[in-house]
Amino acid sequence: MEVYYKSTRGNGETVTASQAILQGLSPDGGLFVPTQIPQLKKSLKELSKLSYQELAYEVMSSFLTDFTPEELKSCIEKAYDSKFDTEEIAPLAEKGGAYYLELFHGATIAFKDMALSILPHLMTVSAKKNQEEREIVILTATSGDTGKAAMAGFADVSGTRIIVFYPKHGVSPIQEKQMVTQKGANTYVVGITGNFDDAQTAVKKMFHDPELNQELAQSGFMFSSANSINIGRLVPQIVYYVYAYATLLREGKIQEGEKINAVVPTGNFGNILAAYYGKQMGLPLDKLICASNDNKVLYDFFSTGVYDKNREFILTSSPSMDILISSNLERLIYRIAGEDSAKCRELMEALSAQGKYEVTDSMRVQLEDFYGNYATEEETAQTIARVFKETGYMMDPHTAVAATVYEKYKEQTGDEKTAVIASTASPYKFTRSVMCALDAKYDAMSDFELVDELNRLTKVAVPKAIDEIRTAPVLHDRVVEAADMPGAVKDILGIQ
Ligand SMILES: *Cc1c(COP(=O)(O)O)cnc(C)c1O
Repeated sequence: MEVYYKSTRGNGETVTASQAILQGLSPDGGLFVPTQIPQLKKSLKELSKLSYQELAYEVMSSFLTDFTPEELKSCIEKAYDSKFDTEEIAPLAEKGGAYYLELFHGATIAFKDMALSILPHLMTVSAKKNQEEREIVILTATSGDTGKAAMAGFADVSGTRIIVFYPKHGVSPIQEKQMVTQKGANTYVVGITGNFDDAQTAVKKMFHDPELNQELAQSGFMFSSANSINIGRLVPQIVYYVYAYATLLREGKIQEGEKINAVVPTGNFGNILAAYYGKQMGLPLDKLICASNDNKVLYDFFSTGVYDKNREFILTSSPSMDILISSNLERLIYRIAGEDSAKCRELMEALSAQGKYEVTDSMRVQLEDFYGNYATEEETAQTIARVFKETGYMMDPHTAVAATVYEKYKEQTGDEKTAVIASTASPYKFTRSVMCALDAKYDAMSDFELVDELNRLTKVAVPKAIDEIRTAPVLHDRVVEAADMPGAVKDILGIQ
């Protein structure tokens, strides 16, 4: 079965998977969605015998139908290799009655690696398939994590370059060190004197600047984006939900066909949407539990049917979930609107004009797959400390938001079904928050002292991603004002 992609705001025109990956966003401003969700081709029992890579092929080949088996297998092999510190790629840890699906064993020890390690390969294959000869230039503005994960994915992938802009005074010392020590002859890191919004706005402007795009084309380049709305990031994320189910089945923890719950710490709604697509493919998932931090727009949406971003933006210890506009939610809205792109467009336009929209009653009914709740900063810290004390398992603040919400869910519903909690970052990525959750005295220590202390307490080896930046040389020191970002891009690409 061929799967094509259409825009959530379009008039039904379709593109192939490779075209959707190359374009990222549809020209009408909508997001690409599959014309049909394919069904799992093999039984869960058969799937449970496969390696991560084999399972990735099973799932991804049903979505990316214009890729040949050789093309897709080669992308998978290049992505899920020894960059991951475990052959399982996404291991399950059973602690205190729940299963933590550890999505942080890749190059930058956070879940973004699961998709960003394969996206560059999907993109270069897509370019070839569409006779695109130009070199792909990825532009990214980052508040810390995504830029690093994107660079780690694109580093030394031929036919691509990546330029990352970050607010010079707006990221943590460890985050900055991770970025400015990035290796790879095709990676460029630029600090800007403004904040993240300035960087983001300037990047968006460059994407849509016809003159700049033409100058690039003349020199053999094209811009592309690696952000989380790309279908090439969504599809690889479905794989680990199937893999988690397959692992539980293989280990005899569940019966074939038994329904399980999934708990996901949510920001842009990409990770949980992948679970939703997995469910539509026939994976026996019951509730999709959407966990938010104090920026609880999604909790309010699931409780009231009103999405309202007009509120204070709160900085929390789970910064990757500090988001007021969850871009991937548009794909769910489109689906519950009965794939009515006019309705979807109307709501999204209301969101950009008034900062809010309300779904109809018939749309709301279809949200019953989801349960939303949130965790405060205090609750999150308490969960980190409690679970460590009870089980010796240390989790990062994003995962702790999910674990807290899962406890609330069980208390409210009495539903004790087997559950998988998406564990989205290593505690080593957020050492200060996790150590201070145990005891405020740790705040006096330096970042690397905290790393050693965490190692001493948990006996979990310090990941390479952290260890190597202690001594890694700084390779990038360019700093510009936001207004000079296009100039920096041209300079980097050697365009006069
Ligand atoms: C990006 C991120 C999230 C949020 O995932 P979404 O797909 O944006 O909902 C959660 N935790 C961590 C550590 C992340 O990096």
